[in-house]
Amino acid sequence: MSFSDRNGALCAEEVPLEEIARRFGTPCYVYSRAAIESAYREFVAALDGRDALVCYSVKANSNLAVLALLARLGAGFDIVSGGELARVMAAGGEASKTLFSGVGKTAAEIELALKSGIGCLNVESPAELERIAGIAARLGRRAPIALRVNPEIDARTHPYISTGLRESKFGVPHAAAKGLYLAAARMPELELVGIGCHIGSLLVEPGPFVAAATRMAELVDNLAAAGVRLRHIDVGGGIGIRYKADDPAAPIGAFVRDTLAALGNRPERLIVDPGRSIVGNAGVLLTRVEYVKPGAARNFLVVDAAMNDLIRPPLYGAWHEVRPVRQSDAPSAVYDVVGPVCESADFLAKDRALAAKAGDLLAILSAGAYGMVMSSNYNSRPRAAEVLVHGRHADLVRRRESLAELFAGEQIPG
Ligand SMILES: *Cc1c(COP(=O)(O)O)cnc(C)c1O
Repeated sequence: MSFSDRNGALCAEEVPLEEIARRFGTPCYVYSRAAIESAYREFVAALDGRDALVCYSVKANSNLAVLALLARLGAGFDIVSGGELARVMAAGGEASKTLFSGVGKTAAEIELALKSGIGCLNVESPAELERIAGIAARLGRRAPIALRVNPEIDARTHPYISTGLRESKFGVPHAAAKGLYLAAARMPELELVGIGCHIGSLLVEPGPFVAAATRMAELVDNLAAAGVRLRHIDVGGGIGIRYKADDPAAPIGAFVRDTLAALGNRPERLIVDPGRSIVGNAGVLLTRVEYVKPGAARNFLVVDAAMNDLIRPPLYGAWHEVRPVRQSDAPSAVYDVVGPVCESADFLAKDRALAAKAGDLLAILSAGAYGMVMSSNYNSRPRAAEVLVHGRHADLVRRRESLAELFAGEQIPG
């Protein structure tokens, strides 16, 4: 629906990608507003009737236009840095509906968060708890905190995106959580507001997600018996999306319903912090074929997007569908789709049967999450433009970087 063929050409909603390439150039990230809104609304609908908050995980796609769109719909935010907090504020998000996660919050970030009126700091270690209490005391404020507890549940996903195992750097070990809550309860600078977990990304089945939520609820009961009452349970994000047509669907509704069923009618507010499942399938990376390079062992389509624009294929071995924007009259062959960066790891796709020639446009699908946010200037390549489509309208929401911007912050010592 958000990316489909109309009159033989792939469109974002009602705007032909060819028109976007003409107006804004390539490589270019293109997002569908309808797709983002509909994924967000799926969460809201599944949570209907429950005291709940959807905190969009900013790291998946932090463009201000995307954040503003979600803020207007009432979303809260899950952030992992002071930079993300600044983006949320600039986009009109509410600090009080924002959770701050991450193992390495600096003193400056904690101070910024407390002064902004952050909803909750998700604490990941005893040392961080001490640091937050100290800063809160100095500012004369109480810091709202939750512990991020490691539920020690195998999310059965890629090791780089699995975070809930015992050996993970994330969270407080489950066995230590109660003791730490009791210690925190004795610190007057801290206000204990909740508990959180996040077991990993790209979950395809609700089982491990629900198991983690259940462990959190047990801990909440255990703490209540010890006199510590928490107001929210944050069950994390990580719900997968379809990258391939035959990938199992990970319907948002099923994750939420199973979680609600497992938690029953508990009084605590339920928080979910999805990233990928809101924006992943709402974006494509639009690129143009520069050269067709047949080889002895492999054939290459050399395109103008590269690993600096979308690093997921080399970093995670991720698979993204590559779709020609218009059916080409070129013969079909099996290609690796590669960029101009000087690394053998610079590929967007491998072994794809495609018909394309120089000048043709290709869309790399499902690139709305962990695409632009992980981009870099490697090989001194300016960052791509970003465009948000709404019906028949396409708005530039981040202009392409200029060559001068590449080294604007650098200087040659005199
Ligand atoms: C990354 C992250 C998320 C979002 O993960 P997705 O796979 O994008 O849904 C949610 N919560 C926390 C704490 C995270 O670090």
